[in-house]
Amino acid sequence: MTVDLVRPGLTDAEYVVARDRVRALVDEWKSKLWLTQWDTPTSYGDGVLTVNDVLCTDAAASCKARWEYQTASLQFNLRTLHGYKDPELAEVVIHELLHAAVNEMRDVACAEDAGIKHEERVVTHLTNVVMEIAGIDRATDEARGAPCFVF
Ligand SMILES: [Zn+2]
Repeated sequence: MTVDLVRPGLTDAEYVVARDRVRALVDEWKSKLWLTQWDTPTSYGDGVLTVNDVLCTDAAASCKARWEYQTASLQFNLRTLHGYKDPELAEVVIHELLHAAVNEMRDVACAEDAGIKHEERVVTHLTNVVMEIAGIDRATDEARGAPCFVF
């Protein structure tokens, strides 16, 4: 299931291109990360995403996983992501999908804040491992431009 939340400030053609790039990478990396059994409803925002039930204006993407049902709701901010090069966009998609793989660890953390911090550290590490193994040459932080946050 795909839901377009709000039309971004892109032209229709830019929107479709950005959405289809993300969609293709989600399909590719769900398979490569052995997550094909997961349901991944995906939506696309225009600058505002819902992260942990809070509207967030600086998020490039987010994943809300319900691991017990193997469901991971993905959101992508196309306004932020449409200018990303392929390796950068792949990194975002891999990062979000890896949240699905490790999310159940959050339930055993002592406190919710600590849980998400542990999850972010593990997901960031695993994303780096996957990017290295897949031979994806990532952009440096300088080349990437303004920082954005991925949840
Ligand atoms: Zn994250």
